[in-house]
Amino acid sequence: MSAARAPVNVVGGGLAGALLAIVLARRGFRVEVFERRADPRLRAGERGRSINLALAARGLRGLAVAGVAARIAPLLVPMRGRHVHEHDGSGALLAYGQDDSEVIYSVSREALGRTLIEAAAAEPAVTLHFGADCVGVDLARDALLFGEGGKVRRRVPLAPTIATDGAGSAVRAALAAAGALTVREEVLAHDYLELTIPRDRAAGLDPHALHIWPRGGFMLIALPNTDGSFTATLFLAREGSPSFAELVDAPAIVAFFRREFPAAVSRLPQLVAEFAEHPRGRIGTVYCDPWTLDGKVLLLGDAAHAIVPFHGQGMNCAFEDVAVLDSLLATHGDTAALFAEFARVRRPDTDAIAQMAIENYLEMRDTVRDPVFQRRKALGAALERAFPDRFIPRYSMVMFHPEISYAEALRRGAVQQEILAALDAADPGQQPRGGGTDTIPPGARALIEARLAPIGVRA
Ligand SMILES: Cc1cc2nc3c(=O)[nH]c(=O)nc-3n(C[C@H](O)[C@H](O)[C@H](O)COP(=O)(O)OP(=O)(O)OC[C@H]3O[C@@H](n4cnc5c(N)ncnc54)[C@H](O)[C@@H]3O)c2cc1C
Repeated sequence: MSAARAPVNVVGGGLAGALLAIVLARRGFRVEVFERRADPRLRAGERGRSINLALAARGLRGLAVAGVAARIAPLLVPMRGRHVHEHDGSGALLAYGQDDSEVIYSVSREALGRTLIEAAAAEPAVTLHFGADCVGVDLARDALLFGEGGKVRRRVPLAPTIATDGAGSAVRAALAAAGALTVREEVLAHDYLELTIPRDRAAGLDPHALHIWPRGGFMLIALPNTDGSFTATLFLAREGSPSFAELVDAPAIVAFFRREFPAAVSRLPQLVAEFAEHPRGRIGTVYCDPWTLDGKVLLLGDAAHAIVPFHGQGMNCAFEDVAVLDSLLATHGDTAALFAEFARVRRPDTDAIAQMAIENYLEMRDTVRDPVFQRRKALGAALERAFPDRFIPRYSMVMFHPEISYAEALRRGAVQQEILAALDAADPGQQPRGGGTDTIPPGARALIEARLAPIGVRA
């Protein structure tokens, strides 16, 4: 992609689009960002749509590549682990990592998006167009179409365009309709709805944890906000029992929460009103192939590979996309080669995180309460302390080790599961103690050295 040529169009000025615009500008490109919504610097935040997000190492690396990590730092609330709340009110914190350096961060989507737009606006080479709704692509005339109510009001030369217009991408839909790519969307049978735990009802909730009320088949989670409140999200089936279809009126909603989340219900004073007011979101995985149209269009972020939110990685993955594209820009002058290389190197990783995100859904909903899961989790953490260059739990590889690709985390994670199962089967009573006094099961060293090459060394 040559900096001297036409400006790069970025369709969608959300999380990935704003970060991408900054990176492109710093590489010497002129950038035109087209965002459907109003300027976030002028409007109030949108309610009821994933109000806060978990940001981890891959996302932080993308922010650092764009030089905006310091701007984002004041927005972050560290979370050390998952606090699991049982039905009887008991609970425990399961640490995410080995120590307080291995934490993830809760961040407001709205504040993050606004801050990234502010940073993009500060780049002289970036022009931001708000209220610019992309309604299609005219492939015959190589044009991006913008308009409203189905009417085209503006045409913009297509090449080169990077589409970051999210899971419901209009650019992707237009290319699919023209037969330029194929799309498969696997929608989960569960929807989500967001609820508020105000600060004055948050007493006793650890402000540095992600809270989960897993109930087998459905769950409530809550992430902390900088003002001491929490945003809770209910994930529940659309149909069947229990399901959103049953929660049709105030008595049904209150009875369901009293029955399933008795300790949480008093923390949700606006429960019934928010049920009525907040939109219910669909979640799913988008599989799309190819992501590119010659050197003209590239899909990136959720537009290319939206995933279910249960690993807290969609935004992190989108920011990693931006970092990968940035590194390829250093060596690829030709747009067609750049876009093709991005798709080639990135697809194995986005396929891997799509799979791990679905697996994490089952873990958060069900397995996290299973004693075998908890025992193996503790054993995995002990093995990491003993063999840190070879054995890192999969969750940690994904969340804290951006130097290990998603595809490699999936591959090593499968081998590690087999090792844990073998060690656990040999001695199910084994309980690592931690604190430098771990007892490592006999045979662990031999198994690990035989099956896991040191990190960074090809097996
Ligand atoms: C409930 C839920 C919880 C989540 N939690 C996490 C989490 O904890 N951690 C994490 O990493 N990820 C999480 N995600 C995923 C994360 O939200 C997405 O992966 C991330 O927002 C992707 O960024 P994006 O820029 O590709 O898309 P988006 O953030 O969706 O941005 C797309 C932008 O394009 C604009 N746009 C759309 N259509 C058009 C059009 N036709 N013309 C012009 N502009 C358009 C939109 O207005 C928007 O600004 C969660 C998702 C959900 C649904």
